[in-house]
Amino acid sequence: MTDTTANNKEITPKANFIHQLVEKDLAEGKNNGRVLTRFPPEPNGYLHIGHAKSICLNFGIAQKFGGLTNLRFDDTNPEKEEDEYVKSIMEDVRWLGFDWGDRLYYASDFFQNLYDFAVQLIREGKAYVDDQDAETISEQKGSPTRPGVESPFRSRSIEENLLLFEGMKNGDFDEGSKVLRAKIDMASPNMHMRDPILYRIMKTPHHRTGDKWVIYPLYDFAHGQCDYWEGITHSVCTLEFEVHRPLYDWFIDQLKDSDYRPRQIEFARLNLTYTVMSKRKLLELVRDKYVSGWDDPRMPTISGLRRRGYTPASIRNFADRVGVTKVEGTSDVTLLEHSVREDLNKTALRVMGVINPLKVVITNYPEGQTEEMDAINNPEDPEAGIRTVPFTREIYIEQDDFMENPPNKFFRLSPGREVRLRYAYFVTCTDVVKDDQGNIVEVHCTYDPASRGGNSPDGRKVKSTIHWVSVPHAIEAEVRLYDRLFTVEDPAGDKERDFKEYLNPDSLVVMPRCFVEPSVKDASPLSHYQFERLGYFNVDPDSNPEKMVFNRTVLLKDAWSKEKSKGA
Ligand code: ATP
Ligand code: MG
Repeated sequence: MTDTTANNKEITPKANFIHQLVEKDLAEGKNNGRVLTRFPPEPNGYLHIGHAKSICLNFGIAQKFGGLTNLRFDDTNPEKEEDEYVKSIMEDVRWLGFDWGDRLYYASDFFQNLYDFAVQLIREGKAYVDDQDAETISEQKGSPTRPGVESPFRSRSIEENLLLFEGMKNGDFDEGSKVLRAKIDMASPNMHMRDPILYRIMKTPHHRTGDKWVIYPLYDFAHGQCDYWEGITHSVCTLEFEVHRPLYDWFIDQLKDSDYRPRQIEFARLNLTYTVMSKRKLLELVRDKYVSGWDDPRMPTISGLRRRGYTPASIRNFADRVGVTKVEGTSDVTLLEHSVREDLNKTALRVMGVINPLKVVITNYPEGQTEEMDAINNPEDPEAGIRTVPFTREIYIEQDDFMENPPNKFFRLSPGREVRLRYAYFVTCTDVVKDDQGNIVEVHCTYDPASRGGNSPDGRKVKSTIHWVSVPHAIEAEVRLYDRLFTVEDPAGDKERDFKEYLNPDSLVVMPRCFVEPSVKDASPLSHYQFERLGYFNVDPDSNPEKMVFNRTVLLKDAWSKEKSKGA
């Protein structure tokens, strides 16, 4: 599932405050002109659109300043991490158009280094083994306005600490019975400096190291050191880590043997309306089957967006448009929709497809005749050329495009009214056929042979042009119409109610019997189309020769740039 349109070269990110900081570092000759960033996901779920922002930012910086980017899996918690997630993350980063070359790292690659560093801290009297349970330790931490209480184990001797820590490593103690803590300052105004936990006992096999380790470093003890050992120059992370920075600096101070240190820079994470972004909540939706999987087209995951019909370029453009700031905010999902519409407008082939079919018989058209009508593949792209679409006596049109008793403003087909069939002919409705219950089952029309190609023969005007599909040539398809997954802008914002109460019951409507023109027949999964007048659609991976399946990516109407859609 790779998209060949995606490559690193296309991206020219607009300047942001992080670029300015990097520029300044380079001007000052820091790191000998080296720029190395990293994208550090924890493999505990699939990547989402927020991660895409971070990916575009990190790879974008390296690209702009002639640097490189590492992919690092922050795999310090074996209870939540899986290989499936590692694979999906690599696929998603590549699909977005980025390449980490041979710079693939895992925090677990550094488990031995971290262990050795912990031993060094113990030797220097800067770490100790605490026998208290997590709850007691947490209580003793105090609050930002109240100093913490020192652990009774804080003054253990270096020798005892070394022995106990080795025992922890060897599996001599039960889970939860001991932790290793840094000895920093229980009265620090920064809570993260109050003797943070460095290691805990976890007798859980790890997706990479198996059962080699029964103690695991905490994220805070691993992250900064991994940056340091990998030689990262600019460590970009979200705002919540700003308060962790003094602790990360403290670790590096104990470790460092040169002037080099990674520079941490924080930015505001991406939030998006009508969805949730926390991996825990997304996992809940998948696990409890509120959606079909991580790649359900309603999910804000990269794999979901891909399946929905988003292109790498549209996601990169969106990431660039939302920009990089230090101020928390929520981006409007209509901006994301605008980005994909803009990209597909340039690239998607136009075809005709009918979602709510109504049969039309053109009574004066010869039975058994087929004409091939010229149709423009993409008016935005002259290179895309033309195709032919078969026209016959029986066609499907959209139910919406016909009304037996139309109100004043309805200009499409109705008894006695003439309309243009796109690329084909002018037709006039002469008759309506109903079943016993009075439902319209068929509409009869006559056509004007002089209007071939949909051109007016005598300057006579029609007020509307509708799309159609020839009955004998139609490809039957299932079309999945998606709407927002939640009914409110911030489903997780209401602390009184569970976010799942705001799930939109109509977020997926399956149209089982749709008809599309035959040119789509051999389209491969994820191919993009514009169904004329209806929106952008793509071929779902569930599609097969017996039954094609399409997803609606987005409607044509642009809620973001309303001005533009007025002109359309
Ligand atoms: P967790 O709660 O599991 O840590 P996370 O969303 O922070 O979830 P990570 O795998 O740690 O997930 O994230 C990888 C990188 O992506 C980090 O650098 C993180 O800052 C960044 N990131 C995560 N969510 C967002 C977001 N919404 N906007 C921008 N960057 C994000
Ligand atoms: Mg994280």
